[in-house]
Parts: sequence; structure tokens; C-alpha cells
Amino acid sequence: MIDHLNQVWNTVLDLLSKVVIPDWGALINLLPIFLVLGVLGPIFSILVLGWVIYLVRRPRTSVRYAEQVRAAPLDASGAPVFPPGLPHCLRHALIYPSGSQRCSEDGEELWVTCPMCSLGRSAQIRTCGNCGLVLNVKNRERVLAAGGPPPGGAAIA
Ligand SMILES: [Zn+2]
Ligand SMILES: [Zn+2]
Repeated sequence: MIDHLNQVWNTVLDLLSKVVIPDWGALINLLPIFLVLGVLGPIFSILVLGWVIYLVRRPRTSVRYAEQVRAAPLDASGAPVFPPGLPHCLRHALIYPSGSQRCSEDGEELWVTCPMCSLGRSAQIRTCGNCGLVLNVKNRERVLAAGGPPPGGAAIA
């Protein structure tokens, strides 16, 4: 009976020693892995984070750039210069992306200068009444029709 108890006790002690005393040799063997995880882990997660931020921000910036309304450059006499073929607001001296029809400031009708004969007309009229040149914004409209047009019109993607 006592022998049996001793045997159980020894078994318990043996189990305890395995649990309480760590296997340092095995841990030291794992040290390079901890170093790799501790050093490369943060670097890797920063790279992944940067990549995700890049992916998230890239489409927005490109769309914003494409839809950007910019101020017209001024010539030597201080008069705004509007590039031909692009809608522009005469009152606010703003240049709008191709396909825009209304000024974002006051809803005023935009104007466009014919690239061929330099005649000005409303941006809502696509065909030049003077030379017959048609401003090509059809591709853009087809793309927008599939996804739904954003308010105020957008540029050629
Ligand atoms: Zn305006
Ligand atoms: Zn024309």
C-alpha cells in the first residue's frame, strides 16, 4: 500500500518537474524564430499596412484628379486663358473636366471653345455650329451610364 502511494507520489513529482521547469534548451533553439518574428514581424506589418493604404487611397486620388476643377491660367494682360475643347466658366475663370455643363459655384452654364475654329458656345452643345466639329464625350457617357452618373459630371477616365 505504501509502496503504491510512493509510486504515485513519484509520478506526480515527475510530472510537476516537467511542468514547472521549462525546457530551456528547446526555448534557446527557438530564439532565432522569436528574433525573426520580433524584428521582421513589425517590418512586414508596416509594409502590408502601407500597401493597404496605397490601395485604398490610389483610386480616390485618381478620381479626384480626373474630376478636378482648376483655375484658368492668366495671360500677360491678366485675362483667363481657357484651353479649347474643355468646358469653362467665364465668370469664375474655372476650367472644368470634359463633359461638365454647369458651374459648381453658381450653376451657371459653362462655355466651351471649339478646338478647330476657336468659336465659343455653350458646353451643352456638342456640335460646333460654325465648323461642325463634334466634341467626343460619348465614351465617357457610356461608361457612366453603366455605373450611374455622379452629380455634376465627371472627366474621361
Ligand atoms: Zn462660375
Ligand atoms: Zn468649330
